[in-house]
Amino acid sequence: CKLQGEVDDCSCKVKSIDSLNNHMVYPRLKSLLSRNYFRYFKVNLNKVCPFWSDDSKCAMRNCAVNICPEDQLPDGLKKTSTKNKYTEESQEDCQGDDLGYLNTTISQESEQAFENWTKYDDAQETFCEMDDDTSPHMKYVDLLLNPERYTGYKGISPHRIWNSIYNENCFKAPEQPAYNPQALTDYTLEGLCLEKRAFYRMISGLHTSINIHLCHQYLFPATTCYGKEEWGPNLDEFQRRFDHTQSNGRGPQWLKNLYFTYLVELRAIAKAAPYFEEEGFFTGNDEEDMDVRQGVKDLLKVVKEFPNQFDESKLFIGNKKEAKALKVEFREHFRNISRIMDCVGCDKCKLWGKLQVQGMGTALKILFSGDGMGPMSTVNAGSKKKFQLRRTEIVSLFNAFGRLSMSIHAIEEFRKLLR
Ligand code: FAD
Repeated sequence: CKLQGEVDDCSCKVKSIDSLNNHMVYPRLKSLLSRNYFRYFKVNLNKVCPFWSDDSKCAMRNCAVNICPEDQLPDGLKKTSTKNKYTEESQEDCQGDDLGYLNTTISQESEQAFENWTKYDDAQETFCEMDDDTSPHMKYVDLLLNPERYTGYKGISPHRIWNSIYNENCFKAPEQPAYNPQALTDYTLEGLCLEKRAFYRMISGLHTSINIHLCHQYLFPATTCYGKEEWGPNLDEFQRRFDHTQSNGRGPQWLKNLYFTYLVELRAIAKAAPYFEEEGFFTGNDEEDMDVRQGVKDLLKVVKEFPNQFDESKLFIGNKKEAKALKVEFREHFRNISRIMDCVGCDKCKLWGKLQVQGMGTALKILFSGDGMGPMSTVNAGSKKKFQLRRTEIVSLFNAFGRLSMSIHAIEEFRKLLR
């Protein structure tokens, strides 16, 4: 499918990513993501779409998501468990020396101001609007039991989402016409700066990955009255979307954008490696947690040595005021995309859409928080603020990277089928 050469805006070759991903990264990630710490994701699938009235609640059975009952969760994640580190942790935070002092001295009014200030401060770091952890609609989902695959979600509803993402939230050169998926006019990156090109490439790479998954785990209808439906790779569907000749020449570029997104998230994991090397990956089972820590270290070793990684130091440089304004704009656009995920009309697609956008947002937080606030602050003693990731950010980042890694692996399978 004419997928070759270097990934644009990175000097890494498609071929070397294929080889390193498929032999080194993918097998390690696959095993890691099946562990309890990574397989349970807490999400609110009932948030109201903030942009338009929810037109299309998908009734297809493949769109349904199975919620994980509380008693099936690992001990450490149960609300009722005494081992729940996440409740303990937040209580400890509030009783810490500094905050304890503040809490007794500030009035209720200033307490509110303090809370708003903390929220504001956190928002400056996050690129994503996160689900409110205190909402009763927050539920754990077992990702292994709800795989991302073909659901039959198509037509006006997903087109509205993709349209809104590309037309209203990706950056455009002033003279560029509106992106019209039906008319096969493509988004052009001409005249855009590196930051804006990167933004589009990451979104397009995510779009590619989602579509590869639905081609790779496609549902073939039964061929006889008594036959069974079957899941498997659909080469025709893959070619329809990505083959050079069938996609008006655009498929190979969309595939390359997947590799770009992969390099961005890989770099974020490599950059935050010192942080992850100290993380406990707590689930309440000592043996399991130790295995996971070992598995993460093993993965980090490979990730850190990956050649020609995405270079975040080339972004948001130059005139300080302009760079700062551009970063704010970049963050606001990305946050909007995280809100659009609540408008997806198929629960299974929404689950994976929210997870992957949150994972990408976590990668951006790691790459662009600034060293005083970013992962290096945990290593550089004496910095102003200690870098922190919530469990949900870690789970979404590793799973999002896992999706991209699996997509690249799936491309290899499609190549074999083609041969
Ligand atoms: P679409 O994929 O809908 O694309 C619309 C237009 O965008 C295309 O015509 C093309 O011009 C352009 N385009 C296509 N790919 C790219 C790219 N990579 N970069 C830039 N432009 C591109 N379906 C499932 O079966 N399972 C899922 O898990 C699933 N998850 C989804 C998650 C989200 C957040 C959304 C919005 C949709 C999801 N879908 C899922 C639907 C799926 O992505 C497609 O929208 C659907 O299969 C219809 O495909 P299509 O051929 O009409 O083109």
